[in-house]
Amino acid sequence: MKRSILEQLVTFPRIPMFARKSFQDHFVQADQVMLVLLALHWIVATFVTSITYHTYWYGFISGGMITLPLLALYPSFKGTQTMRALVAVGLMLFSVVFIQQHFGRIEMHFHIFIAMGILTLYKDVVPVFVAAATTLIHHLVFNYLQMYDISLFEMPVMIFNYGGGFSIVALHTLWVLIEVLILGYIIKLHIEYSVKLIQSEKQISGLNEELNYTSLHDTLTGLPNRYNLHAQLNFIVSNARRYHRPFAVLCLDLDHFKNVNDTLGHSVGDTLLVDVAKKLLAIVNTNDIVSRIGGDEFIVIVNDFDDQSALERILMEILSLFHHEWVVETHFLRLSVSIGVALYPDDTHNVDELLRFADIAMYKAKGEGRDRFSFFTASLNQKIHKEVEIANDMYRGLHAGEFVLYYQPKVDIATGKIMGAEALIRWEHPLKGLISPDNFIHIAENTGFIVKLGKWIIEETLRMIRRLMDQCYTDVQIACNVSTKQFQNLLLYEELKVLIDVYGIDPQLFSIEITESVMVDYLEATLEMLENIQGLGIHICIDDFGTGYSSLSYLQKLPIGSLKIDKSFVDDITLQGDNSSILVNTIIAMGKALRLHIVAEGVEHQYQMEYLKTKGCDTIQGYYFSKPLCEEDFFRMLQKNGDSFP
Ligand code: C2E
Ligand code: CA
Ligand code: CA
Repeated sequence: MKRSILEQLVTFPRIPMFARKSFQDHFVQADQVMLVLLALHWIVATFVTSITYHTYWYGFISGGMITLPLLALYPSFKGTQTMRALVAVGLMLFSVVFIQQHFGRIEMHFHIFIAMGILTLYKDVVPVFVAAATTLIHHLVFNYLQMYDISLFEMPVMIFNYGGGFSIVALHTLWVLIEVLILGYIIKLHIEYSVKLIQSEKQISGLNEELNYTSLHDTLTGLPNRYNLHAQLNFIVSNARRYHRPFAVLCLDLDHFKNVNDTLGHSVGDTLLVDVAKKLLAIVNTNDIVSRIGGDEFIVIVNDFDDQSALERILMEILSLFHHEWVVETHFLRLSVSIGVALYPDDTHNVDELLRFADIAMYKAKGEGRDRFSFFTASLNQKIHKEVEIANDMYRGLHAGEFVLYYQPKVDIATGKIMGAEALIRWEHPLKGLISPDNFIHIAENTGFIVKLGKWIIEETLRMIRRLMDQCYTDVQIACNVSTKQFQNLLLYEELKVLIDVYGIDPQLFSIEITESVMVDYLEATLEMLENIQGLGIHICIDDFGTGYSSLSYLQKLPIGSLKIDKSFVDDITLQGDNSSILVNTIIAMGKALRLHIVAEGVEHQYQMEYLKTKGCDTIQGYYFSKPLCEEDFFRMLQKNGDSFP
């Protein structure tokens, strides 16, 4: 890419794309210079000489026939190859005019004109140098001969032809001076543009380097990015294979980092990430690698450790690094990190697998309560394989129509009337029989399949509501469970809106059950989405209430209509009605204070129902009244229930 200025000047390379515009300007300027030269020829050379030497104006008129059309064409053709070709032709024609004018000797000038034409055609200075040198020699020799009346090769001396000694020499000299000036100007232009080109090239190669750097590094922390890490890992693996050295891949994920971003803002979050990067770099050895591969996820490669206990010491060091209070801007933050570890060569020899295994182990650490590390294990691997298998099977099953919704009635605790039902999914597997959602929902969530499955569940629920409405059940509300993962799909709201329209259902008859975990991870965005969904008229119910990160502060903010007490609390209600059901009392009291409709799930016994009734619970759902029923059974039950409510 790099060329010296001299090289740049004598060879004219293909003009790089980025410099085209600038050279276009160069060509236009060169065209202007050449047109001025033509005009000078016309006016000075042909006009003046026509008068001086009585050539009856014909040289002047023919000169005009060359110059004027070129001037007229300039606005439309400036800077183009056509213009340069026309200029060169014009210069050649001028040389013909001079011969015809019987000023024969002036035709000697044509070589410089043509050379200049060539220059403008090819933007190459070599012909101009040659032309300039020959012209100079020509004029020196010729003027010398003329001055001293020397005749060469029997050629008539000019002075005899034109009869004027000094004046013709002076005219010649003047002409040469003008030519040299023009030539100098064109060369100057050329040098300027060449220097510019070199500067641009330098700038571009600088930008290239920068681009290289940014494409390989995380802009926030300056750490190697995912792509870079991959390249380095490949190198490390080939080295490790040669020297039989083990190494460890650590996948770090900050716990509840989203909360920091959501509550304190992104700038605090960013500063925190930069701090984390610095501290991690300070802990590891020089030949270890720290990289950031996404949001709050870091990968650390630990190269030298003697045995597993040495590695564990490093892991403990990283964990305890987070146990100190972090001061970011004016905030004191408590942080923790979950770390997954995959080992080379014990777990795998493959770079992609190392990263994936470390990631899986990290999720295991999260699942076990965060703020800890977890090693990848073969059993974890088997579990993953099995999950992938099941996910594939689910995909097939969905297309084969093997999923069905069952409906578990929700009953008004005071009257025993069916108010609605919860849709619960079942998998009618051709080989394995009826599979309960506990066996596949979490896999669908882990693999992302839940988005597809969830869409089917919603649509199926709406179809059911349509059927209920068609059979004039206009006060039975059907709820479906919407998984946290489905809220990551930003189109959820749009999809609901469209489907409600398509099925033409009354949105009041549709309800969604969400768990509290929806709130914890995606506060801002989820809140907005929930508000929009509620805006459609859909009822929102908090499911499994009391088991998650219950916090009154967010509960107040949420656009929810009802609260479902988890089965585990209902289980606490015993026949004796002792203190163990205090939590149920509190939850009901809290729900009432927030003016929420209260549902209890998993009610299996009459005494549980009666207890809940005395505390003010509105609706019950559970085996005491009915198990989840297939669609037809549910309709039969509705019919029977309706008969007792005339
Ligand atoms: P969940 O939302 O808490 O659903 C209630 C579960 O308790 C259901 O189990 C229901 O059959 C069971 N149940 C109801 N009454 C009683 C009772 O009196 N005693 C006992 N022992 N159990 C009772 P199921 O249908 O196996 O569903 C399990 C979980 O799977 C559900 O818990 C829910 O989290 C999930 N799930 C089910 N269907 C769907 C769905 O369509 N979408 C999503 N995302 N999750 C679903
Ligand atoms: Ca539920
Ligand atoms: Ca539950």
